[in-house]
Amino acid sequence: LNRRLAEFGTTIFAEMSALAVQTGAINLGQGFPDTDGPEEVREAAVRALRDGRGNQYPPGPGVPELRTAIAAHQERRYGLSYDPDTEVLVTAGATEAIAAALLALLEPGDEVIAFEPYYDSYAACIAMAGGTRVPVTLRPHVDEGAGFRLDLDELRAAVTDRTRLLLINTPHNPTGTVLTREELTAIAELAVERDLLVVTDEVYEHLVFDEAEHLPLATFPGMRDRTVTIGSAGKTFSFTGWKVGWITAAPALVSAARSAKQFLTYVSSGPFQYAVAEALALPDSYFTAFREDMLAKRDLLAAGLADAGFKVFRPAGTYFITTDIRPLGTVLSEGGDGFAFCRALPERAGVVAIPNAVFYDHREAGAPFVRFAFCKQTAVLEEAAERLRKAF
Ligand code: PMP
Ligand code: GLN
Repeated sequence: LNRRLAEFGTTIFAEMSALAVQTGAINLGQGFPDTDGPEEVREAAVRALRDGRGNQYPPGPGVPELRTAIAAHQERRYGLSYDPDTEVLVTAGATEAIAAALLALLEPGDEVIAFEPYYDSYAACIAMAGGTRVPVTLRPHVDEGAGFRLDLDELRAAVTDRTRLLLINTPHNPTGTVLTREELTAIAELAVERDLLVVTDEVYEHLVFDEAEHLPLATFPGMRDRTVTIGSAGKTFSFTGWKVGWITAAPALVSAARSAKQFLTYVSSGPFQYAVAEALALPDSYFTAFREDMLAKRDLLAAGLADAGFKVFRPAGTYFITTDIRPLGTVLSEGGDGFAFCRALPERAGVVAIPNAVFYDHREAGAPFVRFAFCKQTAVLEEAAERLRKAF
């Protein structure tokens, strides 16, 4: 393994899912739903397969039906207008969208600012592109309930002459933070002032709760043409195995990402692209029901975790809850070491979780935080909550 990748080892998601299989524990680690997405969307995929649509290489940018549906979705939800021919790119999941954007837009040595904790592929893709990551740490707010917040002064101070790009993620995995209008306004102003590109990972755009609202960064003044926005059918329609994601951006940025993409996968997910095109046209009632279902699950798991003694940072978005394990004392780890805790948790409680420390460069800043996924059936979450209550 070369020096660029040596530090990354095996992704924590694979490690923890393997531990779940090995121990028979309930897997609240890796974020994937245990219920598949809508029946009619699965039927649409079967129809595409049967009718021979997408069984051979689809067009490089994605099938026209899907590109049109993605553009229509951005217009309908956010009033953002994109040309399906020049401003939309279908990718092999959001994962490839992130990789293609970074590989295409970074010069070796360019600095990329990303919030820490960051989704693990960001660090690896920045490294593969020869860039340098500059983490800005999200910290628990003094105000209980405000979750993890960005320090805007720290963000501004992190920009140097070598900064090329801001890599944003809202709603944020793993903390569940949803950036506010004020925060996004400040980020947009900074990007314009320092002439930065922005890649914004908005795969949890439909999972925002309570008073929170998802505001795409591309809707802010000066941002449309400097922003690469990323979405995912895996997250929005609960088909993580289909690996259909997308980019919307100005023509030059889409064209750049396409240059990288054509040598990564070239194309992918032929028949599924047609099905996702139909999914994106589902009525608002689908998106509302999806959100309300996840909201009930959030509340169920949050209550269970709180009863068990965890400090719970109630997420405003995503399907993850970040907790602080320190109130549990030294039961499973000395001094709140989330790694040790997560390795011992399956045996003690029959539940698997993810140590947030893997998403930090400043590991000590993330040490006591542990993430639980709640995109699981109610009965599974009830059982997990019960096990955790008994274990602590
Ligand atoms: N970004 C974030 C923040 C994610 O949580 C995930 C998936 N868990 C991805 C990107 C990757 O999405 P996909 O499965 O569509 O590649
Ligand atoms: N995005 C999912 C999560 O955060 C996992 C994706 C993966 O396994 N790479 O849990």
